[in-house]
Amino acid sequence: MNATQITNTTLNIEPTTSCPGCSGAGVPMDSYNGAVSDFIWRCLGCGGAFTHLPVTVEQALPVVALDQAMLANAGAEGQFYFDLVILTSWKGQQILKRIHGWADRQSKRVVQFG
Ligand SMILES: [Zn+2]
Repeated sequence: MNATQITNTTLNIEPTTSCPGCSGAGVPMDSYNGAVSDFIWRCLGCGGAFTHLPVTVEQALPVVALDQAMLANAGAEGQFYFDLVILTSWKGQQILKRIHGWADRQSKRVVQFG
């Protein structure tokens, strides 16, 4: 079973190039702001980051620091919405987790989950 099949059977997420935050058009991150990830898309409207294919925490890190202990306030540059499907392991099994919320534009730290 590949990652795409896992996504479609367990989370029922449709492939999309539209931002889940504002429905704006998304472009792959590597064509938006340097090569970060082919799997994470950036919204041209609100700057939101989103995926419909699973990414690892390591792949997501350059875009948004997903560590709950790093919760921070949004700085002067404001915040962006993120909506990611994270491939992680739990009790020895590979599982998918949808993680979404708001992150600070500059530090990439999460401001708020959900
Ligand atoms: Zn957007």
